[in-house]
Order: sequence, then C-alpha cells, then structure tokens
Amino acid sequence: MAYNKVTTAIDAAIKSLKYIHTKNSMTQVFGWIDTWQGISGKIHNTSSASLPFDQNGIKILVGGVASHINALTYTDAKSLAKSIDALAIGSDHLEVKNNVVWRSLYQMEDRDYPFMDINGQIADWLLSTIPCHNCGMVVPESQIQIDHHMPQKDGEDLYTLKMARAQGLTTAAPSGSKGQAAANLAGLIIHPIARNIGDYDHLANATASAKWTTNDKGTAFLSMLASIGALGDLQRICKNTLLNLVPLCGECNRVKSDWVKPII
Ligand SMILES: [Zn+2]
Repeated sequence: MAYNKVTTAIDAAIKSLKYIHTKNSMTQVFGWIDTWQGISGKIHNTSSASLPFDQNGIKILVGGVASHINALTYTDAKSLAKSIDALAIGSDHLEVKNNVVWRSLYQMEDRDYPFMDINGQIADWLLSTIPCHNCGMVVPESQIQIDHHMPQKDGEDLYTLKMARAQGLTTAAPSGSKGQAAANLAGLIIHPIARNIGDYDHLANATASAKWTTNDKGTAFLSMLASIGALGDLQRICKNTLLNLVPLCGECNRVKSDWVKPII
C-alpha cells in the first residue's frame, strides 16, 4: 500500500508493531525489526543487527542486547512525521510556486520589470518576479525553473537524508539556514548565492559524511517505516519539499543538471 503522508505511514507502522508485540509477548519481552540506516548518503538494510521494540517505541541495543532505553518513542515518531508532512509539496513539484512560505523564502515579489514597446521604448511594468538562487538574476515568475537541489535521478537517499538532517536525525547537524530552521520556515528569507550565471564550481567541494549518516533516532525512524514497506513512500514524499526545491534561471538549471557534492 502506498502512503501519501508520512503521518499515515507512521500510524500504520505503530499499529502493526504494537500488534506484533502483543502477539509475541507471551514468549518475548521485545519484538525485532530489520535495521535500516543512513550511512554516508546511502540508506542500507543492516540486517545483521535487528532493532528491538515494544509497546512504547523502538529501543536501542547495548552490546547486542535489547535495552529498555528508547531510541524513538511512538509519540516522537508521530511528531517527526507531522513535521515532515508540513514541509511536503505533493506529487507536482511546480506546485511549490504557489506555496506562501516558499514564495516568501525565496523573495518572490511584484517588481518593476522592463518591457519594450512597438516603438522600441523601454518602460517598466509591475511583474511577479523571483531571483535565481544561484546567480541572483531576477526572473519573471512565469520563466523561473524549479530545481530539485538533490537530483530526482538516483537522489532518493540524499533528499531523504537531507530531510532527516533537518529533523535532527543525523549524527551531524545541518549547516544551511533552511535545514536549521526547518521546524519553522515562515519568516525565513534566503538571499541568492550570487555566483556567475551557470557557475557550479562550488559543488566540487565535499560534504561531511556525518551529515548523511543517521543517529539512533533516525535509524529507528527509517526502520519503522521500512517495517511496513513504506520507506519508498518516505523517499517519494521527501523529493518534493520546501527543503529540496530551489528557484533557478534557465541557464543555471541547464548547467547544474544532476550535479551533487561528493560525500566523504
Ligand atoms: Zn541563474
């Protein structure tokens, strides 16, 4: 079954885990699920180490033994799911242009814009415009292109882990302003990087693998969704979010293509 919201998927996972636990509790204190972990930008099934769970949440292993310490309570999982859903745009990424928070984030505004008339005279008309996030060129709203910051092709683990980082689920915290403010993007303003048109040399710089590796809580969250086969739904939902969609002019978007920073 495909889930269109992370909250629905997490509710289903909690129900399923509680049911399995109740069924098995005659013989075992804990149930066990496969571990799914983000490691350096890739989500792996580390099936050699299963994760224990009970009626309250996912536990941690201490020296291979199930501990009563929670990595993630079901209540925490629900609030994380809610927070991710609040950043999601839905299946059509172009819809982000109509999102009030995104428009304000990237400074889409009515501005005076030069038009030429049939006599060759230039006059300014008020037009809805937005700066390209890379070069800063102010472009009419109708001409702006929407780039997936982490690529659509083979980027599913990357944009999922980028979302995980913004939710405090990776071993290193976000450094960008959007990731840091993900809980409340309303009111945040992002200025363009103001590089030359089409200049993407900065993507050659590496990014730290700890930013792309889940902590115990993040691993528990991914594993919960994987336990009901909903990891693919999380990845699909994380592709089109306020964190991953960036306005670019035609030239910057053409040059960027599917470039990403290497992870070391
Ligand atoms: Zn540009």
